[in-house]
Amino acid sequence: GTDDAPAEENTDESEETENSGEEEATNEDGISIGFSLDTLQEERWQRDRDLFVSKAEELGATVNVQSADSDDAKQISQAENLISQGVDLLVVVPHDAEVSASIVEMAHAEDIPVISYDRLIKNSEVDLYVSFDNERVGEMQATAITELVPQGKYVLIEGADTDNNAHLFKQGQMNILQPLIDSGDIEIVYDQWTKGWEPEEALANMENALTSNDNDIDAVIAANDGTAGGVIQALAAQGMDGEIPVSGQDAELAAVQRIVEGTQTMTVYKPIRDLAERVAELAVQMANGEEIETTTTVNNGQIDVPSILLDPIAVTKDNIDDTIIADGFHSEEDVYQNA
Ligand code: BGC
Repeated sequence: GTDDAPAEENTDESEETENSGEEEATNEDGISIGFSLDTLQEERWQRDRDLFVSKAEELGATVNVQSADSDDAKQISQAENLISQGVDLLVVVPHDAEVSASIVEMAHAEDIPVISYDRLIKNSEVDLYVSFDNERVGEMQATAITELVPQGKYVLIEGADTDNNAHLFKQGQMNILQPLIDSGDIEIVYDQWTKGWEPEEALANMENALTSNDNDIDAVIAANDGTAGGVIQALAAQGMDGEIPVSGQDAELAAVQRIVEGTQTMTVYKPIRDLAERVAELAVQMANGEEIETTTTVNNGQIDVPSILLDPIAVTKDNIDDTIIADGFHSEEDVYQNA
């Protein structure tokens, strides 16, 4: 499908560039990387793909990109294909934190290292994990909402249960919420995972949260901007949008526009360029057998995975200009187009 097209195009271009410089040697020596994404559903993943591919190519590598459309079997067979094509290294955004361990096993059987991109592959000997500090993301979400609603009834619309990040976001949220629950200031009246991170699922869950509480809720912590969109749609159907604070994550354009409009309270901006380009550099180094430097480790149930965790940034109306727009993540025209 269309998912694969850019990578193929890029691969061709890169080969042309290399060949014009160094003739045949580069075809044999050039690093080839397989990039296996769970999904391109959220806006961010397209950015991840594009930035990763262009950085890797700049470094002389070729990249074969595959997206599994949230399907475990598909992700595994795509990884199998990449391995049998003889890629030098695999970069994986796992759909399922546990199931994807089999990808690491298959790759290691062929001496192919695996980098866990943004999401951790659990119970495996995955070689490297590069992400943002995801527990911190959850803390930022809960902090922003509890500052506005220090007391009241809370709804939690969490991410996909199959995604380790969803658990880290929730852990971070609970770091902030638990003391307020213990003191009796806040009460969690609804708490649900969102199957596949689907906005429609979040919408349906939010409708349930409203119905089962007779619309008597005060705040919503939504794990990302996609789920926040579903939540805000459900609130709007009850005329409650803009009245109830809602968190998010990813700085998607639609979400940033909602923040300007006042229907979403905050998002967490994760500078994707830093992640994508860092991983591209590390991937090429690892594929060349060079030592790489990491800053921390994260236990994945089997080993302490050498890791790098980048800093997320909380964004409200007040700092959109200094963060998202200043970085060129979105243009001022796009962000304020409905304002
Ligand atoms: C990512 C989020 C993303 C979500 C849904 C998480 O693992 O960290 O940025 O919104 O997956 O794709």
